[in-house]
Amino acid sequence: MKNVKLLMKFRTKVVDCSEASDWAEARWEWVRMGRKQRRSEKCLCGRNILNVFFVTNRKTRMMVPMGRGCLNKLFKVEPVVNVL
Ligand SMILES: [Zn+2]
Repeated sequence: MKNVKLLMKFRTKVVDCSEASDWAEARWEWVRMGRKQRRSEKCLCGRNILNVFFVTNRKTRMMVPMGRGCLNKLFKVEPVVNVL
């Protein structure tokens, strides 16, 4: 399924930019920076986005752009989905 692939790609990228080596831990290292900005960017997952949110990793100090969809994936507690 395409959505699952996109989700896994996004998670892998997040983990790559984090200190922790798995998603469950890594996601807690991130904080949102400021408000959304209207400008064209590439989300961490690779999709083009128009409304950009920036998030920063508190440990690695890495700042990355992402769209609302991925922002929600990062900060919302989701139901458990078996994708592995
Ligand atoms: Zn994305």
